[in-house]
Amino acid sequence: MAKYTGPRCRLCRREGMKLFLKGDRCYTDKCAFERRSYPPGQHGQAQIRAKRSDYGIRLREKQKVKRIYGVSEKQFAKYFDRADRMKGQTGHNLLQLLERRLDNVVYRLGFASSRMQARQMVAHGLFKVNGRNVDIPSYLVKPGEVIELKEKYRQNARIQENLEAAVRRGIPQWLELDADNFKGTVKALPTREDITMPIQEQLIVEFYSR
Ligand code: SF4
Repeated sequence: MAKYTGPRCRLCRREGMKLFLKGDRCYTDKCAFERRSYPPGQHGQAQIRAKRSDYGIRLREKQKVKRIYGVSEKQFAKYFDRADRMKGQTGHNLLQLLERRLDNVVYRLGFASSRMQARQMVAHGLFKVNGRNVDIPSYLVKPGEVIELKEKYRQNARIQENLEAAVRRGIPQWLELDADNFKGTVKALPTREDITMPIQEQLIVEFYSR
């Protein structure tokens, strides 16, 4: 499936919840979902009352998580495949793999205000992992690894603002931020409790097990 390039707020309205795809705007009253929380399109309001099939419910859950992490259909299916081959619960494994992506970690540490911005920053080579250049957004971080913003980007006012906002919002427990030195450490693998978005991963497992 081609990459989605349309309005991102439309995706939140489609999924019926805030997916936080637009950075700072998502925390203001300009958020489109705050103003129109029904699905987009001419018949959007009527869809709120429409009953969804089991398939439709599972499909929406899969789409929602895919959109939160900004991965393609093909990438998402590959993560599911890998999660299914790992020990433990497939749904938890899937969320853990997505959460360990470097672009997500850069976002969670607060260097970027959205995952999309984080992906661009990683792809443009702004970060080092354990002292080595890594410009692959899908790179999976491991416990003990240190993610560091390169020195020449540390004066960037936007990044400094992002970090201040993230410190105010809080950093997940599995990560540690040293904002003064523009570094973050992966303390442990993320657990299910670390992922606070309302996600029912079992529905995604059921979607792929059809
Ligand atoms: Fe979603 Fe953010 Fe747009 Fe609100 S502002 S609808 S949370 S992308």
